[in-house]
Amino acid sequence: MAIQELEDEIEMPLYKKRIPIYTRTVKGQFRNLKTGILLLAYATYFLLPWLPWARPSGSHQAVLFDLVSRRFFLFDLVIYPQDIFLLSLVLFISGALLFFTTGLIGRAWCGYFCFQTLWTDAFMLIEHIIQGERPARIRLMKQPWNVEKVLKVGGARVLMLLLSFWTAFSFIAYFNHNPEFFVRFFIGDANSTAYYGVVFLTISTFLAGALLREQVCIYMCPYARFQSVMYESDTLVPAYNLKRGEGTAGRIVAKTGVHTLEQRQAKGHGDCVDCGYCVQVCPTGVDIRKGLQYQCISCGLCIDACNTIMDSLGWERGLVRYDSENNLQKDKPGKPHLDFMRLKVLGYAGALILMLGVLVYNFETRTDFEVRIAQVRQPLYIEMSNGTVRNRYEIHLVNKVQLAEQYLIKTEGLPENSLHFGPSGNPLTIQPGKDMKIPVKVDLDEVTAKSTKSFNFIIVPLSNPEKQVVRHESFDSEK
Ligand code: SF4
Ligand code: SF4
Repeated sequence: MAIQELEDEIEMPLYKKRIPIYTRTVKGQFRNLKTGILLLAYATYFLLPWLPWARPSGSHQAVLFDLVSRRFFLFDLVIYPQDIFLLSLVLFISGALLFFTTGLIGRAWCGYFCFQTLWTDAFMLIEHIIQGERPARIRLMKQPWNVEKVLKVGGARVLMLLLSFWTAFSFIAYFNHNPEFFVRFFIGDANSTAYYGVVFLTISTFLAGALLREQVCIYMCPYARFQSVMYESDTLVPAYNLKRGEGTAGRIVAKTGVHTLEQRQAKGHGDCVDCGYCVQVCPTGVDIRKGLQYQCISCGLCIDACNTIMDSLGWERGLVRYDSENNLQKDKPGKPHLDFMRLKVLGYAGALILMLGVLVYNFETRTDFEVRIAQVRQPLYIEMSNGTVRNRYEIHLVNKVQLAEQYLIKTEGLPENSLHFGPSGNPLTIQPGKDMKIPVKVDLDEVTAKSTKSFNFIIVPLSNPEKQVVRHESFDSEK
């Protein structure tokens, strides 16, 4: 089978002529799961930019990516550019999670959570509502242009454009203060970037979800191409039970003489009644009976379709089901189950747990302020006319809490009055989310300078002195 697939791949042209897909509706557990995830994802995506959130200072919006003040507000969490490591870690964790789930249950991300799937699903729903079920839509597309066709095709496209527009507007709203942005946008008073962004995203959403659809998954998505390296023969994927479906004499429609299971088995026919329902519901046009194909996004709708047919015939469900290649190759396949005890899956799980641990540790040990100290090295030290030796430092403080904070800067290991400040004074106040670079000088007399090689800076946040930070620095008086 694998070799045959490879040969098919080799013979396949780079772009196969598109065959229009008119999906049929289907009911079942995977359809319900997809609908539930879709509703949850839409509610989250469209409502979050409008959700208020009480904070002592800064934005009162639950989620705001504030590029101007360089702060990301996520409920009670405020992320600064200095936290870029945490953001990178979150991306790595998402990648490891994707690899882990793909190793276990194939392209579940694609079938249930991917934005392309969610938006295509919604656009298909619009088509179903306006243009009717699959046969009606095929008829409509074949008929010449008339009032009915213009209204139904045009009406669906207008609704899809509106959804695309609102998707684009909501995305841009995440970067702006709402509801002020809503008003400014619609009276033409918003930043021009917002208008360009909305136009670009409206067009791209409409193109991807309303026009290109499965072509995005097949030709544009890189994940479709490399996900096969994460598959193993124990990975659960939508699969057709070939032995049961085909028997020894192949599949056949349920007609007189081969209507009951007994009649079919007596003649060697399998349980597939060749109704084609599993193909008609597939959003990427796959015939799962030909084996797993890279176009399959693991959405499970063909499983619902086949189970519906099996239920109507009173036969056992599961002719098409999530199962592994290994299980289906057995003489008597067992119950499909998730197989965690595999090296690849355990490896992904290990990487995932490790990165999650690092993330939690970093959040737990995250300080309310950040301190970076750099010694000025041009020149390394200055000899004053009275013999005093001067070293200069730049202290960079970032206030990461949502209230203004006063910081006291002290030294340890130096005589009193050796530390000198510029106009900032000491203690100094930093506003919430802001940072400050403070130039300081350390002056030591000749004898003390010779015996001092290092000392400590101590930075004390006055509202919370026990969170003071100590930084060890060197003092230079010789080349
Ligand atoms: S073959 Fe089945 S699981 Fe795969 S995309 Fe089509 S309907 Fe979804
Ligand atoms: S839905 Fe089931 S019975 Fe109908 S063609 Fe597909 S596999 Fe065969």
